[in-house]
Amino acid sequence: MSDQGAGYVKDTISAIATAPGRGGIGIVRISGPLVAKIAEKVLGRLPQPRYATFANFRDDNLDAIDQGIGLYFPGPDSFTGEDVLELQGHGGPVVLDMLLNRVVRLGARIAEPGEFSQRAFLNDKLDLAQAEAIADLIDSGTQLAARGAMRSLQGQFSRRIGELLAKVIELRVFVEAAIDFPEEEIDFLADNRVASRLVDITEQLREIIDEANIGTLLTEGAAVVLIGKPNAGKSSLMNAMTGRDTSIVTHIPGTTRDIVDETLQLDGIPLKLVDTAGIRESIDEIETEGVRRAVMAMEQADLVLALVDASQSLEKRDQDLAELEDLCGGVKARSMVKVFNKIDLLDDHKPSVSGLIEVSAKTGEGMDQLKSHLKYLLGVKGSTESGFTARSRHLSALNRALSAVEIGESALRTSQAGELLAEELKHCQQSLGEITGDFSADDLLGEIFSTFCIGK
Ligand code: GDP
Repeated sequence: MSDQGAGYVKDTISAIATAPGRGGIGIVRISGPLVAKIAEKVLGRLPQPRYATFANFRDDNLDAIDQGIGLYFPGPDSFTGEDVLELQGHGGPVVLDMLLNRVVRLGARIAEPGEFSQRAFLNDKLDLAQAEAIADLIDSGTQLAARGAMRSLQGQFSRRIGELLAKVIELRVFVEAAIDFPEEEIDFLADNRVASRLVDITEQLREIIDEANIGTLLTEGAAVVLIGKPNAGKSSLMNAMTGRDTSIVTHIPGTTRDIVDETLQLDGIPLKLVDTAGIRESIDEIETEGVRRAVMAMEQADLVLALVDASQSLEKRDQDLAELEDLCGGVKARSMVKVFNKIDLLDDHKPSVSGLIEVSAKTGEGMDQLKSHLKYLLGVKGSTESGFTARSRHLSALNRALSAVEIGESALRTSQAGELLAEELKHCQQSLGEITGDFSADDLLGEIFSTFCIGK
């Protein structure tokens, strides 16, 4: 059992687990020690465990509020690990409220968001990464993200972390044992086995970081901002990428005055494309505000796509490009992609070797190269098909784990500093443990579960 689970106060919680609004079925979920009593009062009897039991759902005065199925899962073989009752009735907001109120009058309290999952975590039914995968599965915006979240929920990500943790702990024990025998410490540490195990751990960490990067992109997506002079073809490019008419395309400069967001899928990665107001000196107040917003959008973006009209004179092209580079240089965008548009208008066009991406938003030429380049810049090395989902939180813990191992490895290599290595291995172990929840502070847990939906 987790540390947090040990002295856990067990009150009974309840919530409507189905989405708000009207639907065929609505479910009230209850978990905790009062479940048996509540079942007897509401259903008239305690249902046989794990058998669907048809009954009236009775009010305080025994009138039927609704009729439906009662499902009883005695702990510890339930989702939360506690006694759980599900009342599956009709999905009307009023009838579900009446049922929930009845359950509350019988001693349950309304659950906080994510509290069922939190109890499952505290009772060791799931680790933290798996609990987060439930929320990610519910929130997933693409099919790949949903499949990835399911793999994480089934423990694929946690198993990888677990295997790595076992290696780190084993090495830490070995190094600490060496420190305890000072007369032999140097021999122990000079032993190639320590160095080679460090290499192995570092390699595995790097592999997991690459996969978790894809996993995080699947869950959280990436923001790509489009900048360019008016008429460069930003709206057209956006439409070409999304395949729909989201921005208004005109030949009058400066029509995209506001920020337009559109989400598209790039191999299952939700990409939020942000089309900005044409960047230019302007006395028009709305446009100046638009430019300011474009700069803000770039500061928050993962990638900036700088679009230049390639059908202009060479001088104008270079000037536009230089201005966009200047503008982009002032913001902390991770990467800027330079794209020449309207190549269909160039008579003698030959593919460029300059590293620029060349497209025609009109004919679709070059769009595939642009998409693969974006994927490359987002750090997607392999396929997005078979991975698990992850979150930025996991990625940052993995990076901390990696830098601890690297610092430890250098301490060993340069000064045979066993104590330092042991200390860094401890940090590595703690960072990995944060992912699965072995070493998580209560406020972190509160923060994670509060983002879940009610009834989950
Ligand atoms: P924005 O101001 O940057 O959003 O530019 P728009 O997308 O509104 O495009 C400006 C003009 O250029 C429109 O008349 C488009 O039809 C045209 N345009 C955009 N992309 C292309 C392209 O790849 N080839 C050609 N021939 N015209 C384009």
